[in-house]
Amino acid sequence: MSRSVFMSLLVAFLFLGCTSLKDIEDNPEFSKVTDKFFQEFWPLHPEMASAKGLTDYEKELSLPNEETRSKRLTFYKEALSKFETFPIEDLSIDQRIDRSMLINEMKKRIWSLEEYKDFQWDPSEHNVGMALSYVLNKSARPLEERLKDLSEKLLLVKPFYQAAEESVNNPTKVHTEHAIDQTKGLIRYLKGDVTKQIKKSKLPRRDQSTLEQRVGVAASAARGYIRFLRGVLSNPKKVGGFRDFRIDPETYAKKFEYDLQISFTPEELYKKALDAKQDLRSKMFESAIALYPKYFGEKLPPKDRQNVVTSVLAKVSKQHPKRGEFIDKIKEQLPELKAFIKKHNLVSLDESQPLKVRETPPYLKGYAGASVEAPGPFNKKDETYYNVTPLDRMTAKQAESYLREYNNYMLQILNIHEALPGHYVQSVYANKTNSLVRSVFYNGALVEGWAVYAERMMMEQGYAEKNQELWLVYYKWLLRSVTNTILDYEIHHKNLSKEDAMKMMMVGAYQEKSEAEGKWHRAKLKQVQLASYFGGFTAIYELREKLKKEKEEDFKLKQFHEEFLSYGRAPIQEIKQFML
Ligand code: ZN
Ligand code: ZN
Repeated sequence: MSRSVFMSLLVAFLFLGCTSLKDIEDNPEFSKVTDKFFQEFWPLHPEMASAKGLTDYEKELSLPNEETRSKRLTFYKEALSKFETFPIEDLSIDQRIDRSMLINEMKKRIWSLEEYKDFQWDPSEHNVGMALSYVLNKSARPLEERLKDLSEKLLLVKPFYQAAEESVNNPTKVHTEHAIDQTKGLIRYLKGDVTKQIKKSKLPRRDQSTLEQRVGVAASAARGYIRFLRGVLSNPKKVGGFRDFRIDPETYAKKFEYDLQISFTPEELYKKALDAKQDLRSKMFESAIALYPKYFGEKLPPKDRQNVVTSVLAKVSKQHPKRGEFIDKIKEQLPELKAFIKKHNLVSLDESQPLKVRETPPYLKGYAGASVEAPGPFNKKDETYYNVTPLDRMTAKQAESYLREYNNYMLQILNIHEALPGHYVQSVYANKTNSLVRSVFYNGALVEGWAVYAERMMMEQGYAEKNQELWLVYYKWLLRSVTNTILDYEIHHKNLSKEDAMKMMMVGAYQEKSEAEGKWHRAKLKQVQLASYFGGFTAIYELREKLKKEKEEDFKLKQFHEEFLSYGRAPIQEIKQFML
């Protein structure tokens, strides 16, 4: 080898060594582009600004009219071309992920305005409830200041619902009915919580009565929207008739691609779900048959496998906390989970960001039984809450059914999912990435997928030990996510009827009737979202298995978790590129 060839090889080698992806620093030019993007984004999306804890746009409310939509569309298209043409070579890993997320987000928004057009067919898109509640609840400012902003915002509620009426075209019946229910809820909120806060404030009496009067005008605008929607129900022709709530496979595939950003097609995920269903059902049978003598003594198990599982599940479900002790039981379990994670060296926990268990605040009630509320990018220092809805509003019968579902075993899985090492742990890691992009436009498949992955991983690491009840209940829980995926796919691809859907859930996945009814309703309202749990889980699990195979004995579970979480709420597809 001649000296010059050797030298140039050496130079090439050094050059490659210097520009390993991890060494590239943030490109200040790109940071300028994203800063400018957000400066223009917030005024066009004041509700999102409030939701993220930014208080500069609290007085505003964007009207759902043509002007807003066309301004946004122009902005999205310009932003998309800026991000697409920005040369990727001089971007750091963080910036590459941000760039690709922004491109996806802009494409999704353009598609939604130009083709999906849910602002036309989903009248429940138009609801000021969240926008009002963000101002009242999301900010740490004094109540009087928040109410002053709210007062301005309330003036826009009437034009908001006028624009909403004009937007509705060829809606679905189920979304129209849902919009009526939601708007009724808004009126209750205005008359209840909002009015209470006004009275509680130290504002001068004059300002209080101005506010109360504006609340009255807003409530009557909401009542007007309900009247309009009832008119649509009795005479759909005046808005172009009703459309089917099912979307066509092509539209489904597009939404799936934008929302989940995983590397499988809807068909591939559907096939994986069908296989998983079979596997889980036979595992449930094995656990149930092993438990049978414990609960039924000498009695011979039924011939029918389905019966074996349901009769054992019924016994297991009876082991539940008392209604008044539900929240205490959750609090009690968290230290045990923490200890297990430490002992088994699964992921480092940050003690400086404690999780506070509390009753779900009124403005969030009705969404979910339990949820984790983490601070946003502009209020990182705020506390992280584990919101648990108390059972005080339920009848004795409803409470009993709820407690049977969230029995002593299911509660442990729920705690893993919501808190340790599920949503809570992930949010702590996500807040460490300094990417505004990823905290504003997070990826849902990553968030839910991680929580579902956390359950599986804890079980694999021996959390249940030989506790067959816990295994049985875990399989049932996972079967629910799997069934959600099948349900969502078959509704939009195979014209699945309600009757078959109910059978799929109640027989196929051992669900209670009330749960299945609720799920059917949710599936009609939201497309693709139900596939994000199993979709995200599968993508994460497959990535881990692949890395395990590649690295062999060098694979460390803790290191995998921490590296994975360090990317924040990025699309799994992107994380995969950098981890493999
Ligand atoms: Zn009971
Ligand atoms: Zn979740």
